[in-house]
Amino acid sequence: IFEIENLEKSFGSNEVLRDINFKVEKGEVLSIIGSSGSGKSTLLRCINLLEEPDGGKIKYHGENILDYISINNYRTKVGMVFQSFNLFNNKTVLENCVVGQVKVLKKSREEAVRVADEFLKKVGMYPFRDAKPASLSGGQKQRVAIARSLAMNPEVLLFDEPTSALDPEMVNEVLNVMRSLAEEGLTMLVVTHEMGFARDVSNRVLFMDKGVIAEDEDSKEFFANPKTKRAKEFLSMVL
Ligand code: ATP
Ligand code: MG
Repeated sequence: IFEIENLEKSFGSNEVLRDINFKVEKGEVLSIIGSSGSGKSTLLRCINLLEEPDGGKIKYHGENILDYISINNYRTKVGMVFQSFNLFNNKTVLENCVVGQVKVLKKSREEAVRVADEFLKKVGMYPFRDAKPASLSGGQKQRVAIARSLAMNPEVLLFDEPTSALDPEMVNEVLNVMRSLAEEGLTMLVVTHEMGFARDVSNRVLFMDKGVIAEDEDSKEFFANPKTKRAKEFLSMVL
C-alpha cells in the first residue's frame, strides 16, 4: 500500500526525520517504537499530511501523494486516531460518527447512521450513542474515536499513542478493539509504548532512533533478538 522513500523533515535546524525508507503491505500491522523525540509522531503526521515533508516520496498505491492536488480523498482512505481523541465535544457519540460520512463522503444521513451504529456496536459503544463525549471515560472516548475513523471506511488507520492518555484499567479495552481490527486484516501503523501490543499483535516493528529507522524487523524477531545497541538499551528500559 505504501512505499516511503528517502523521507526527510526538519523543524528549523532540527533534522527530525532523515532518510526514512520502508514499505507497508496490505493487512500489515506495524508498530513504530522508540524513545521520546525520535520522530515517531512526525513520521505519522507526514504520512497523513498534517506535516509537509521537506524531501522524499510517500507513495500510496504507487502514486506520490506529495504530488496530489487534492488531499481530501487521500485523507478519507488513511484515517488517524490521536492520543487526545479529538472528538467534537458538542456533538453526541452518534453525531461524531455521522458528520464526516455526510459532509466528506456525501452519504445520506440514514446510511451514515446505519454505518455509525454498526461500528459503535463493534467497539462496544452503541449503548452510549446519544451521550456527549464529556460524560465518557477516556477508554470509551477512544473507542468512539476509532468507530468514527472506521465509519469513513479507511484502507489504513494510523494511531499515535492511542492509549497513552488513558488510565491503566482502560488501556486494554482499547487494545482489544485494535487487536480485533488487526485480526480482521485492517492495515495499521501504530505509534505505541505498549510493548505487549508491539510484540504480540503487530507483525513488524520500526524502531526509530534520532530521526532514522534503526531497525525494521519482524516483531517476534525484534523482541527476541534486537540487532542494534540502541534497541537493546531501549528494550532494557521499557521491558
Ligand atoms: P514522543 O514519544 O515524545 O511522542 P516522538 O518520537 O513522537 O516523541 P516527535 O513528536 O516526532 O517525537 O518529535 C521529534 C522532534 O521534532 C522533537 O525534537 C520535537 O521537539 C520536534 N518537533 C515536533 N513537532 C514540532 C513542531 N511542530 N515544531 C517544531 N519542532 C517540532
Ligand atoms: Mg509522539
